[in-house]
Amino acid sequence: MNIDITSHASRAKFYNSVEWRHLRQQILERDHWECAECKRQGLVTTRDEVLTVDHIKPLEEHPELAMDKDNLQVLCHMHHDMKHERMNFYHAQPKKRNRFADDERWD
Ligand SMILES: [Zn+2]
Repeated sequence: MNIDITSHASRAKFYNSVEWRHLRQQILERDHWECAECKRQGLVTTRDEVLTVDHIKPLEEHPELAMDKDNLQVLCHMHHDMKHERMNFYHAQPKKRNRFADDERWD
């Protein structure tokens, strides 16, 4: 699968692809529909509607890992947002919203 993440439209195409949807389902099942970060904190977040499959190494920096199961984890929306905001912070662009962050919510 050739993954083009250079534009919002092409990323949308990726997140809407059958391949991604199938893989996302596999990751949710592998991780027992639990947010990895909540789990680390001793919490359990398994509500389907708040779960997102996150790219551990960001898709925009590692498109080659887009379909790599080792690069995928389940996060709840809160931790997903926190992760992306933290990344922006490290990049010293606190006011610039990471436009990739919302893309993963489409699934
Ligand atoms: Zn969480």
